[in-house]
Amino acid sequence: MSVTQQLLEFPLFINGERVPADSGEWFEVINPAYGIPVARVAKAGRSDVDKAVRVARETFESGVWSRRTPAQRAGVLMAFAQKIIENAAQIVFLESVSSGGTLRRLAGSDILQIVDLLQQTAKFVTEYKHVEALPSQPFPGPSNNQVWREPIGVCAAITPWNFPLILAMWKLAPALAMGNSVVMKPASNTPLSTLRLAELAVEAGLPKGVFNVVTGPGASMGEALVTHKEVDKIAFTGSTEVGRRIMQLASGTVKKVTLELGGKSPSIVLPDADLELAIPGILFGVFLHSGQICESGTRVLVHDSIYDEVVERLAATAATIKLGDPMQETTGMGPVVSKQQMETILQYIEAGKQEGARLVCGGKRATGNGLDNGYFIEPTIFADVRNDMKIAQEEIFGPVLSVIRYSDLDEAIRIANDTIYGLAAGIWTRDLNQAYKMAREIKAGTVWINDWHMLRSDAPFGGYKQSGFGRELGKYALDEYTQLKHVHASLVTEKSQRPWLSILFS
Ligand code: NDP
Repeated sequence: MSVTQQLLEFPLFINGERVPADSGEWFEVINPAYGIPVARVAKAGRSDVDKAVRVARETFESGVWSRRTPAQRAGVLMAFAQKIIENAAQIVFLESVSSGGTLRRLAGSDILQIVDLLQQTAKFVTEYKHVEALPSQPFPGPSNNQVWREPIGVCAAITPWNFPLILAMWKLAPALAMGNSVVMKPASNTPLSTLRLAELAVEAGLPKGVFNVVTGPGASMGEALVTHKEVDKIAFTGSTEVGRRIMQLASGTVKKVTLELGGKSPSIVLPDADLELAIPGILFGVFLHSGQICESGTRVLVHDSIYDEVVERLAATAATIKLGDPMQETTGMGPVVSKQQMETILQYIEAGKQEGARLVCGGKRATGNGLDNGYFIEPTIFADVRNDMKIAQEEIFGPVLSVIRYSDLDEAIRIANDTIYGLAAGIWTRDLNQAYKMAREIKAGTVWINDWHMLRSDAPFGGYKQSGFGRELGKYALDEYTQLKHVHASLVTEKSQRPWLSILFS
């Protein structure tokens, strides 16, 4: 990393070295709080992807990482966690100036999460059942049978701009733990922290070439990675549209794929809910990171009997959220990631008005108080939303909440499940039995009861329906980065004791 004309400069990271793109081209990363460039980053093309994949393949086949013991790999993950702690201030800065994430969230949560994930993964991999002995069976014949878990090979990870650090680590930690090599492509808006992570991994003792980062446009360079014949697996987080495309492209070489895609998660408020908890909880669920979270609770389903009170209290509490420079400790909500994303969100707000939803707060770009050049949107709440409206069906990825009315619990479940997505859901009630009963009915990969955004390093995260497949986090993620090999050793030493041979020979 060096500073040229006041811009930070980030080349690619291949084979443990910073290298320029073959084309010599660069692209700019914009600070969304001010709308100005903060860095220039190497723009990789197909030949750079080839280089990174070749290095990852050679490193994998050499066994320098893939054949290390789980305990040795765990040791490097622990050292990597330590490096992140030591460099936390710099990582937080890089993440904030590109993604618009607030200092309060990044320092108070994201860094802790990725460190915890590395440390927990180190524990999981040492406890992991790499070899499973099957019981001896009389049929088809006595034998010694084992099931081995082996690394997959070269894993490509394609990550989005909302949580660059966290989503990189959700893929990197399990992939490395199981002995794979990785080529990562971060989003073009937010590649800075991932490039720094790669350097820290090498400093922590990860052999060069195990973790490579290529930066550049998804539509060209990303597709080169997805279709590369030497890539064995793709782990993707991003839009459902691109997820579909990746799945199609991956079929050409029959790659393994895990997809973590969009969401339109319902938050159901029962008549007996403790509103002192539910009101800030619902708003935390939707407005954290300006609503740019795949599992944000963007649809709130509220019982008739408390509907007006809930709408009024949501609007009043939303008004207390302070927008500002994300690097200021006083800021609760920063900008959205880009001008393009801001425009998309504003179009959705317009669509909500057109369809007859009632705007109860926000609804426009936030200006004044130093926000004018940044991409800020006021926390926006629509009431009287019907579930078939565009704002209730499509992922907006911005600070926009739809409040929907229901009159009985069956209807609430039906509305909750009436979506193509199934990433998360929430239930607000004092009746825990009722909540568990409803959790069973909801088609989503995560259900929170009286809470939101609480993800754990040991609990699986992933989607039902078009929110994707595969699971990240915990020991479940380790499975996703292995393939199974069955090894059979015959214990039948006499030819005469092998009756199956008579199927072919008389
Ligand atoms: P994308 O899905 O386009 O981007 C995610 C990642 O995929 C980026 O690294 C991107 O690269 C890359 N990419 C894009 N096209 C391809 C391709 N054809 N082949 C391989 N890789 C590709 O998300 P957007 O940034 O366009 O955001 C659009 C919408 O997606 C958001 O409004 C939101 O609804 C949803 N989204 C969901 C996320 C989630 O966590 N589930 C995260 C981010 C967005 P590049 O940045 O260079 O284009």
